[in-house]
Amino acid sequence: MFVSRSPRQSAEILHADLDSFYASVEQRDDPGLRGRPVIVGGGVVLAASYEAKAYGVRTAMGGAQARRLCPQAVVVPPRMAAYAQASDAVFEVFRDTSPLVEPISVDEAFIDVGGLRRISGTPVDIAARLRSDVRSRVGLPITVGIARTKFLAKVASQEAKPDGLLLVPPGREIAFLHPLPVRRLWGVGAVTADKLHTHGIETVADVAELAARANAMTADAQQIVAHVKKGEGTVGALVMDEAVYDDVQEMVRDLKHNPWKFLWKQ
Ligand SMILES: [Mg+2]
Repeated sequence: MFVSRSPRQSAEILHADLDSFYASVEQRDDPGLRGRPVIVGGGVVLAASYEAKAYGVRTAMGGAQARRLCPQAVVVPPRMAAYAQASDAVFEVFRDTSPLVEPISVDEAFIDVGGLRRISGTPVDIAARLRSDVRSRVGLPITVGIARTKFLAKVASQEAKPDGLLLVPPGREIAFLHPLPVRRLWGVGAVTADKLHTHGIETVADVAELAARANAMTADAQQIVAHVKKGEGTVGALVMDEAVYDDVQEMVRDLKHNPWKFLWKQ
């Protein structure tokens, strides 16, 4: 676990995340599945290959709906032991990359490469090497986002999927965030995104603007906006500082549970 309280000068936090983890393991182990839509799990979709995702199949979707969307998909039962083994192998690569690894789930982690410049090269070099190591040692595609904060690194990896590498250069964070769909914000799920869409809020920039408008509304909102202003005036700027990032999470939670608090006067 590593914590950074003050904004870093350079982008040196990696978010590494395997692509369609379970489905990729199935495609790795059975060449007959490569290039084909694969769904892991019959009752509920546990994972879908990118070929299946192209048809709208999503994780946690009911199996019947998934098969309707993509009748030609190959449905395979999960092999949890194989996934556990793959996860161990991937984390071995992570730990060989840097001593500072913070696991998030079986297939993703933050990796701090800040102190490694002299021995391992730039964060982009390290990320590229990590991707090729995971490919050669574990046989799986992985996407890496690189940024000054964990939040941004995670947003970057989601944006770069599949099998990608994306750096958010210092100073370009706001330009990177604002055009993104709200769904890309960590903590905004499908339901929250739908609610926001109903109110015409599509992008992160819209959320930033909403925060600005909220200034004129309630005392609560004004408090949040005070934090926003500390971070240079937009929601995007908030992610520069993890202390303030907690406030963004709170705001996202509020948007989730009580969007009216922000929207009632519009
Ligand atoms: Mg993943």
